[in-house]
Amino acid sequence: MTGRVLVLNCGSSSVKYRLFDDGETLAKGIAERVTDHEAALRDILAQLDLTGLVAVGHRVVHGGTRFSAPSLVDDELISVVRDLIPLAPLHNPANLTGIEVARKLLPEVPQVAVFDTAFHRTMPPAAATYALDYEVAERFGIHRYGFHGTSHAYVSRRTGELLGKPEANVITLHLGNGASACAVRAGRSVTTSMGFTPLPGLVMGTRSGDIDPAVVFHLVRVGGMGLDEVDELLNQRSGLKGLSGVNDMRDVLSRVAAGDERAQLAFDVYCTRIKSYVGAYYAQLGALDAITFTAGVGENAPVVRAASLAGLERLGIEVDPVRNAAGETVISPDGADIAVLVVPTEEELEIATQTLAAVS
Ligand code: ADP
Repeated sequence: MTGRVLVLNCGSSSVKYRLFDDGETLAKGIAERVTDHEAALRDILAQLDLTGLVAVGHRVVHGGTRFSAPSLVDDELISVVRDLIPLAPLHNPANLTGIEVARKLLPEVPQVAVFDTAFHRTMPPAAATYALDYEVAERFGIHRYGFHGTSHAYVSRRTGELLGKPEANVITLHLGNGASACAVRAGRSVTTSMGFTPLPGLVMGTRSGDIDPAVVFHLVRVGGMGLDEVDELLNQRSGLKGLSGVNDMRDVLSRVAAGDERAQLAFDVYCTRIKSYVGAYYAQLGALDAITFTAGVGENAPVVRAASLAGLERLGIEVDPVRNAAGETVISPDGADIAVLVVPTEEELEIATQTLAAVS
């Protein structure tokens, strides 16, 4: 990576930024409780030394089916990202604002959009298609898009590098506030646990992950809830928080240690779900080289890693308790069939790398 790149991640009320020069971080920060993105970005830009800035890389959550790679921002890209707002109502509007403000403030500098969905565009139709009425699904753009692509791309590539096997087959487990699993064959996503939205799949801090969709009909018809209420229930009041009362895994673990049964249940459901995906994705890949944990929980919670992979020795999957507790990079025993790793995710660095690749 060569050149100076500014990475921007604009949320609905925050702006995260990081300035890289040849892969080294020169400055980073976050503006929170932002109501005026233009003012916030002006303040941020004023503090940074942007001499020789080659490009600005923007995190954009939803690129739909149109974008399978980082792309230079132009009017067409902006209009496609705007058209995708109904599919990512919380994220794409803020991402767009960031792009538009940066374009206005830095008109001479190329802007690049790096999409969370892009990495998953390699999923074969058999993995990306929901078994719905085909025409209805087509008309409304309903299929599995997948998210966290930047993280899964970075972490799977890093795993290949660490193992000295760039073509490795890897299951990546991104366990942060949001959580998703991805099966990666030789650097390409073949399936992932998030779908049409970032709601399904693994148990998350406040999101339910997989449920029977008929639960929604039941809550509306029998429970008398409105659709917005169910939406809020599944996205904000479910997952670890719904089961245990707290969304942060650190709090769940301290309650488990204190003998709290609901926290124990939350932990068990969380880890059992991960194990189910590991089994399913092992089958999808056929041959598996590594399982890699990343993000807040994946990087910092040895008990989650141990419980999620417990009892899988017959599949060649084993966690060494000493290495796991010590937080080593490789936590499987020597000679294990399948390596188990902990690799810190570097989403901003990956966005910067992809941004440079897109402009050079
Ligand atoms: P995001 O998905 O917002 O990027 P992170 O990847 O930073 O979030 O993950 C945040 C989550 O990681 C926290 O909510 C918490 O549950 C978990 N976490 C962070 N540190 C620890 C820790 N030491 N032990 C267990 N869980 C942790």
